[in-house]
Amino acid sequence: MSELNISNATIAELLAIKAETAKMPLQKALRRASRKAYLWPEEAAHLVEQNRSLTELAGVGPSLSKIVMEWIEQPPPLPTPPAIRRSFLTLPQAKEILSNNPTWARNIRGDLQMHTLWSDGSGSILEMARAAQARGYEYIAITDHSKGLKIAGGVDEKQLQQQSDEIEGVNGVLRTEGAQFVVLRSIELNLSPRGEGDMEQQSLKRLDLVLGCFHSSLRKKEDQTERYIAALQNPDIQILGHPKGRIYNFREGLQANWKKVFDTAAELDKAVEIDGYPDRQDLSLELVQVAKASGCRISLGTDSHDPQQLRFMDFSLAAAISVGIKRDRILNFLSAEELQNWVATSQAQQAQFQGSR
Ligand SMILES: [Zn+2]
Repeated sequence: MSELNISNATIAELLAIKAETAKMPLQKALRRASRKAYLWPEEAAHLVEQNRSLTELAGVGPSLSKIVMEWIEQPPPLPTPPAIRRSFLTLPQAKEILSNNPTWARNIRGDLQMHTLWSDGSGSILEMARAAQARGYEYIAITDHSKGLKIAGGVDEKQLQQQSDEIEGVNGVLRTEGAQFVVLRSIELNLSPRGEGDMEQQSLKRLDLVLGCFHSSLRKKEDQTERYIAALQNPDIQILGHPKGRIYNFREGLQANWKKVFDTAAELDKAVEIDGYPDRQDLSLELVQVAKASGCRISLGTDSHDPQQLRFMDFSLAAAISVGIKRDRILNFLSAEELQNWVATSQAQQAQFQGSR
């Protein structure tokens, strides 16, 4: 492969800029292609070298193909993306990082964020487990939304119990097959801006793991450090999911004193997530760097909404590798048993901490 004169990341930025002045429906097509460009499996410039059509790429029809072709033939000056589109990896970039560090994908043992038919996912628990087994994992955590997030079909306490029964059934099937694989019961607990969850503590206690996430007041401009500290101090959660709340070209996410947030996570022995969903990639590379300096635990989760999306782990892994996070800080390199021991220890410490206050 020859040296690229223009990368997919640059094409994505040019598409987004062009969308800003385009009329509908072109505007929508440009915005969509800008987002999809992060998931193109190959560099568009390489396709052109091989005399292949750009319409092979998701989101690119005949008219966008012409526009992109012009950029590839004569690259415009390199744009600097605004914060809302900055610091996202493209799939070829992530793949290259992984191929230079092949043991990472081989040794990762599980995925700690995914959704199923129980909330807004489209796969069953068994289908997610099968897809994870095919990737060589030893476990997955099922993290459907909790009841407060109605728009995403959040589950209430009763449904969470029914889901646990289904998970027990799936684990029974896997055991009978002699598989070294377990489905962990978890939830994406919807946190209020005060860091409080929306489920009864008793039903959360019965889970293997709890991921807490903010889904409201995500466009606040003021510093939100207090909200993060409160969430981390919430005794029910062990992992803070998609911490910044950013979405590519849609929302920049929250501002905080991240050093203080991650120092608090380290002190409480909690984990912060690198959400690998391509539009999220949250934490970003810069924030993973800050987390690394604090030494807090890191959790990798794809936020998959169907079994094929488990491949988004490439983005989470690539971010951790490129920043140089040590594997012993990453939950996904623990065995299922070690992971459960960590949760138990964390819960006991929290109980003690609460008691001593
Ligand atoms: Zn979420």
